[in-house]
Amino acid sequence: MTPAAHFCSIVPPYVLDHLAEQGHEPAQLSLALDAAHRAARLTALPAKAPAHQLTRIIGDAHHTQKTPGRTVRQEGGAPVADGSVNRAYDALGDTFALYQDVYGRHSIDGSWLPLDATVHYGVKYDNAFWDGSRMVFGDGDGVIFNDFTVSVDVIGHELTHGVTQYSAGLDYHDQSGALNESVSDVFGSLVKQYALRQSAADADWLIGAGLLAPGIQGVALRSMKAPGTAYDDPQLGKDPQPAHLRDYVDTSEDEGGVHINSGIPNHAFYLLATALGGNAWETAGRIWYATLTGGELAHDADFTAFARATVAAARAGFSDASVATTVVAAWSQVGISAG
Ligand SMILES: [Zn+2]
Repeated sequence: MTPAAHFCSIVPPYVLDHLAEQGHEPAQLSLALDAAHRAARLTALPAKAPAHQLTRIIGDAHHTQKTPGRTVRQEGGAPVADGSVNRAYDALGDTFALYQDVYGRHSIDGSWLPLDATVHYGVKYDNAFWDGSRMVFGDGDGVIFNDFTVSVDVIGHELTHGVTQYSAGLDYHDQSGALNESVSDVFGSLVKQYALRQSAADADWLIGAGLLAPGIQGVALRSMKAPGTAYDDPQLGKDPQPAHLRDYVDTSEDEGGVHINSGIPNHAFYLLATALGGNAWETAGRIWYATLTGGELAHDADFTAFARATVAAARAGFSDASVATTVVAAWSQVGISAG
């Protein structure tokens, strides 16, 4: 049985709303498409036997709204002329590599789920999403957003929703929803860091670097290092993320601010990883992975419950007691008591 999935697109609805209110036509069309995606049942997973290896098929929708589209590259095939196809192919492989090499997880479901994608979806579609069985990428409008295949962390983010769906199954609203979003940002960033072999100190800790078109005042969609500073632009609005519990945003929009309040646990992970030093996917990433997949975390966990679970995972996984102490300190710095 397929666990319940939800629809998450990488650009949060409030960003497209802000653009649509100013008459930006691609954002209006993208919002309408996303509403239809949200209402539709997520696609059932393919019923074929698992291959016990990474398998990728990239399709080209040719600016229609049809998936999977014409197959343009398959597992093991040579790069093609279309950069979007190759970036999608590579980023799916990078995501598989982090989970397989570092955490011993066989694809996002743990059972060799094929990692497929469709590129060139829709016309100037300002988003990318995981539909339950594949990644779907728009080209962006070229004015606000670039091609959505440019950010490997965006792909890692979306696929991690699949991991969460198959593990802790965090409810997609309020604090558990912000945790669901946050773990997607955490492992999305780790996919990029692992692919580039970047240490915690060298990483940019951005989600969606390169996505904003030239002229837009901003560097990415979110910053784990400095939540609330990713963009501040007349057309796009200002990054609304808090970095501390005292600035928690109570809202009924965005499922209770799941893309907003995720800044708080995001920042805790950044603080932990940089305090520990070295590569973030090692100690900090292992603690978060064990918390997410260990079977102890409730689907409706709030920030405090999640924080305490990370401390327990640090104690269970690392004999060095200073690791757990560092986890407690990181949460404390964002206003959450995990002791
Ligand atoms: Zn998401």
